[in-house]
Amino acid sequence: MTGTQPKPTTTDAGIPVSSDEHSLTIGPDGPILLQDNYLIEQMAMFNRERIPERQPHAKGGGAFGHFEVTNDVSAYTKAALFQPGVKTDTLTRFSTVAGERGSPDTWRDPRGFATKFYTTEGNFDMVGNNTPVFFMRDPLKFQHFIRSQKRRAANNLRDHDMQWDFWTLSPESAHQVTWLMGDRGIPKDWRHMNGYSSHTYSWINAAGEIFWVKYHFKTDQGVEFLTQAEGDEMAGIDGDAHQRDLYDAIERGEFPTWSLKVQIMPFDEAKNYRFNPFDLTKVWPHGDYPLIDVGTLTLDRNVTDYHTEIEQAAFEPNNRVPGTGLSPDKMLLARDFSYADAHRHRLGTNYKQIPVNAPKVEVNSYSKDGAMRIKNVSDPVYAPNSYGGPKADPARAGESLWRADGDMVRAAYTLHAEDDDWGQAGTMVRDVLDDAARARLVSNIAGHLSKGVSEHVLERAFEYWKNVDKQLGEKVESAVRNGG
Ligand code: NDP
Repeated sequence: MTGTQPKPTTTDAGIPVSSDEHSLTIGPDGPILLQDNYLIEQMAMFNRERIPERQPHAKGGGAFGHFEVTNDVSAYTKAALFQPGVKTDTLTRFSTVAGERGSPDTWRDPRGFATKFYTTEGNFDMVGNNTPVFFMRDPLKFQHFIRSQKRRAANNLRDHDMQWDFWTLSPESAHQVTWLMGDRGIPKDWRHMNGYSSHTYSWINAAGEIFWVKYHFKTDQGVEFLTQAEGDEMAGIDGDAHQRDLYDAIERGEFPTWSLKVQIMPFDEAKNYRFNPFDLTKVWPHGDYPLIDVGTLTLDRNVTDYHTEIEQAAFEPNNRVPGTGLSPDKMLLARDFSYADAHRHRLGTNYKQIPVNAPKVEVNSYSKDGAMRIKNVSDPVYAPNSYGGPKADPARAGESLWRADGDMVRAAYTLHAEDDDWGQAGTMVRDVLDDAARARLVSNIAGHLSKGVSEHVLERAFEYWKNVDKQLGEKVESAVRNGG
């Protein structure tokens, strides 16, 4: 700031302060006076700077950008943001799942990949991960899963015994754990990883036809990873390596891009597809549903205040716009509630009025009052009314609704021919990985299992891996028992 006069410091009420460096005392050595409002304000604000961290996905970073449609997918969706040539402002946040806010970026973990699209029809959030599947298919198990990945009650330590105990008692986790223990479990950085909706969502076209859809954000930088040894080393050298990499790249003018592609399944094919298409532990093989180009996501602007623009950013799958919708995926339906609930707890009732979360279109809702509300409400405050208040337009909303009937049950999906827990994980091991990647997979699993896993859990883990692939399981067992 050479040559310009700095602005005068003020209190938070805009009142000029007398000093940036000296509190008000009786004589230079005397007691501090309680009427030094500026000192009191500084101490009180400091004590309240941290807000509760996210549970999970606490450690992360991100950037602003834009999404531009490069293909015509209007046959499948009427959503304004996906129409040919449309350009939409975005915010993307990347994160690890299990670690706390200060934890290293290069721990083995899935990564969050969440993008908010500030569309002309309200905000659309794609709250994805860098993996196409997840550890479970029923939301009742999610809380238990996250607790098993975090810290034990007694010693407050993360614990491999707890992690493998949960995984091996939850065979539906096998596909995601195979992915996690493979190369993609430690991406080189956020620029070199893909993002996936993981869930199946729906799209609705202008004629009202519904399609099932999976989103894939493929990195244009290429997929790159760190080995376990490289990740461990980087965790010691620079715990914020991924955050730094993204920030520095954007500052250099190297703007990372991802090509958004979708898989589309006609509505009626879901019922008899060989896999349950709404099971979050499964992919749709590309051979069955090829990728269709949609557009390009570019990150080109760093945030200037991490707290207000990233820490207070709130992504939620229930931010959906006309032409997009949910599916019968139980995990997705539960997230539809739990994300907004988490934000209300962490950020407060009116978190959608925080500028980074506010839509760029007019809001005409009947919500009112609550702590920290900053936008005025006006009469009438109820609907229906005869005083000119907002009126719902079902045609404009165009909800995606599907037919469901049956008995109330508590059960896993069972209706589809290939709905087992091991098949797709085995396909990845045998058909996708090469010999070197398989060897790294064995080494990563064996290394993980060799850290404090009790004998009865180890026995189950060997069975688990033999169920994924017999040879893989035998190699894991031999590596753990004989050290190689
Ligand atoms: P394909 O051969 O068409 O696709 C295999 C995909 O595997 C690739 O396109 C790539 O996904 C991904 N992949 C490559 N290397 C790795 C790795 N080291 N770790 C994790 N994923 C990797 O086969 P299918 O579509 O028939 O799927 C076969 C298996 O591939 C599945 O059972 C699943 O385990 C895995 N897979 C499938 C995906 C899908 O959506 N169909 C996505 C990711 C993995 P990408 O192109 O997204 O980089």
